[in-house]
Amino acid sequence: MFIDGQRTWSRSGATFEAIDPAVGQAFANVALGDKSDVDAAVAAARRATEHGWAGLPPVRRVRMLNRLAGLLRERTRELAELESLDVGKPLRQAEDDVAAAAGYFEFFAGVADKVFGSSIPLGQGFVDFTLREPLGISAQIVPWNYPLRLASRGIAPALAAGNAVVAKPAAEAGLSIIRLADLAAEAGIPAGVFNVVTGGRETGAALASHPGINHITFTGSVPTGIAIMKAAADNVVPVTLELGGKSPNVVFADADLERAAATSASTLMQNAAQTCTAPTRLLLERAAHDRFVELLAKRIGAIRLGRGLDNPDMGPVVSERQMHRVLGYITAGSRDGATAVTGGARAQAAELAAGYFIEPTLLDRVKRGSVLEQEEIFGPVLTVTTFESLEEAIAIANGTPYGLVTGVWTKDLSKAMTVATAVKSGQVRVNGYSVEGSIGLPFGGYKRSGFGREQGVEALAGYTQVKNVMINYGPA
Ligand code: NAD
Repeated sequence: MFIDGQRTWSRSGATFEAIDPAVGQAFANVALGDKSDVDAAVAAARRATEHGWAGLPPVRRVRMLNRLAGLLRERTRELAELESLDVGKPLRQAEDDVAAAAGYFEFFAGVADKVFGSSIPLGQGFVDFTLREPLGISAQIVPWNYPLRLASRGIAPALAAGNAVVAKPAAEAGLSIIRLADLAAEAGIPAGVFNVVTGGRETGAALASHPGINHITFTGSVPTGIAIMKAAADNVVPVTLELGGKSPNVVFADADLERAAATSASTLMQNAAQTCTAPTRLLLERAAHDRFVELLAKRIGAIRLGRGLDNPDMGPVVSERQMHRVLGYITAGSRDGATAVTGGARAQAAELAAGYFIEPTLLDRVKRGSVLEQEEIFGPVLTVTTFESLEEAIAIANGTPYGLVTGVWTKDLSKAMTVATAVKSGQVRVNGYSVEGSIGLPFGGYKRSGFGREQGVEALAGYTQVKNVMINYGPA
């Protein structure tokens, strides 16, 4: 772990193993933090805030965050190899994650000296203005799917606004976050401003319930988000929750089906679809169904599986537990009448047998309201449900407890706008799912996908509190 500017083992000496999911074997021992380590990290963060991190001229934070971004870019290969080994994702994708992490620090370096307040007119004899002040210590509880990218998404705005951070990576994968802390120190960020306590569920719970923290950002599952919100309530601490999704991808018959199918196949390959935004719930207009399924099946059939470090199209899922969860969903789906067009099982090839590989899977005839159609699978499985009308497409799109992202494919602007305004989701993406510069776009959930916004200038609102100052300078 990394506390008060230094790498350290846990106070108890306990460790756990980091597993390479491509071969199912341990490759590192990691410190297992407990409450005493969390206490030490929170105390270090408190000292750092009291010693003036928040009071620095903001331009100094701008320079440090930019230096950190530069170091991330310089060390891309090293960080990507670590991330690929830890999570299982193809090296190329891990390199994109490092670039995204650097992008977060660059973006929030750009706004660190622009955290403006406002002035409010009260008439002659008065001046009134607001100050946006940091919250203090931000706890960042990070999932395993994009450790470096998602940690940076929260840590960059937290630091930019003048907060100190205690991060808790997931036990399944999070070694890159310790390297991020090394690089932050190298970039000149003072000791105690950014701490990392490694460990699992108990370590996270000790951090979430710590009376010394002032804020929590959490990304992960709904049940854990609820537990964290309850812990935060006891200390009256604000939370930002990003709790995943079940993102619909609505394909109308008039769409560019080739492009839509290529995007669907690539979101399946991206981190083996262990991505909160992955549009894994395909809603196909009946007239496009057969053609789209054929196009997509051809692309999925060509996906090469392999160890992340060998740069295949798709790697394993992160852990044995996750593999069994995903296979369990596939089994439940077939009981409900879904049919596998491609895939549907653990990968069979001998060289993949020791790892946690699942065949890229396309399941057709998935019933509305079935478990497969309602719950976040978080693995390489696309489900297909058909619709007849615009109204039905909207009803199905809105028919889960989640609301993170909605994809829409059509050449008809009126249809696209009707869906965009009717769906309950934090983002809508029309005729394309990824875009360069997406860091600037506010991101977050409706419904059980969570609340609060990450990314973009909006993210700063989650890391600051507003103080109003009224001055009466007129005659008494
Ligand atoms: P999780 O939500 O339990 O874990 C995420 C993080 O929270 C980890 O760092 C974990 O150690 C920590 N944590 C767990 N319990 C905690 C507690 N009580 N208090 C504080 N911190 C705690 O997720 P999981 O069990 O690893 O995965 C289960 C499912 O969650 C996945 O199958 C997937 O559906 C979903 N998930 C979503 C995302 C996302 O990006 N939205 C990421 C990971 C997992």
